[in-house]
Amino acid sequence: MSLIRGRKITKRQARQIEQNQLTQVDDGTLATGVIISHFGKQLDVQITALPQILPDHPSDAITLGAIWRCHTRTNLPMLATGDTVQFSLDTTANLGRIERLCERTRLITRPDRYHKVKPVAANVDVLVIVFAPLPKPAVNLIDRYLLIARLNDITPLLVMNKADLLVDHADAMQIIEEYQALGEKYGFSVITTSSTTQTGLDALKQHIDGKLSIFAGQSGVGKSSLINALLPDAQQATNIISVNSQLGQHTTTTSRLLAYDTQNLAAGGIIDTPGIREYGIWHLSADDILAGFDELNELVGSCQFRDCNHQKNAKGCAFWAAADAGEVLPRRIESLTLLIDEAKNGQSAVKPSGK
Ligand code: GDP
Ligand code: ZN
Repeated sequence: MSLIRGRKITKRQARQIEQNQLTQVDDGTLATGVIISHFGKQLDVQITALPQILPDHPSDAITLGAIWRCHTRTNLPMLATGDTVQFSLDTTANLGRIERLCERTRLITRPDRYHKVKPVAANVDVLVIVFAPLPKPAVNLIDRYLLIARLNDITPLLVMNKADLLVDHADAMQIIEEYQALGEKYGFSVITTSSTTQTGLDALKQHIDGKLSIFAGQSGVGKSSLINALLPDAQQATNIISVNSQLGQHTTTTSRLLAYDTQNLAAGGIIDTPGIREYGIWHLSADDILAGFDELNELVGSCQFRDCNHQKNAKGCAFWAAADAGEVLPRRIESLTLLIDEAKNGQSAVKPSGK
């Protein structure tokens, strides 16, 4: 009940914010930029378009590609790394103030346990789900990320990294084939890469070029290695942030955008965020979760009982009948019921351990 009421308030607030937004016009002095780091209260915004009217005493920092530390007007909607914003420039304090959120294609949010919505990232196009022959693939985690992609209307891309180890792991090969069959039917791709031998990196680049993506997956599958291969300067970005923290200004970053071309954010990049591994699903209904399992969702009306729980021993369950007939994978039904149980219990049955 309280959740429903909470949603109503949010909607009303959203309308109010929209109206405030409309009254906020650019008088020509605002710079346009993309949020590249989010520290909670403050954000770093990289300039992508200069103000039409430059201040009387222009600063060197008002150039394309310059990064401005900004705070925000209080009545703005929730902002996230990846958002395009307009901001005013206080050249004396070298501090910006975000005045306006520009159009966004999508915003990934997750609720925390107190029903507070947390932004994860904005304008993300691709969720790159990385797995490997070793550590042994946690298929339940892959299914969970496929669900998150579906819920947020983001294209998933499955990447089996450490392809150099595949010869010794026939089981991993089978998992690739199973997801390839699903992907062909439901519109996602599965590719193999090796950051060690550099194979498959061009194919990976083609899938994410010009787009914003997030990498998700178990710890140890090679996400950092892949990101470093795609972005040799990423390490540098990490250093810049830790230098800032040493100054004692900002101890936590919630997320940051690693651009392929720091002078041209339109070329895309990777948003490095812990938000995606903290993405709890306790707020989802069984129907929401089913939406992430296309092949099972198609069968949903065919179970004998309307309130079928699709557990293995459920009488007249169409899912298990299809599994017995070899039409769907039993492990996908198991993933589904595990996620539904997790949502019901309101706590993580499977704790994702990816980066
Ligand atoms: P992350 O936890 O997902 O970020 O994984 P890391 O990038 O830290 O990699 C974990 C370990 O796997 C490291 O020891 C890497 O050297 C190794 N690794 C990464 N990519 C490959 C690969 O393509 N092949 C092999 N054999 N090892 C890899
Ligand atoms: Zn059923």
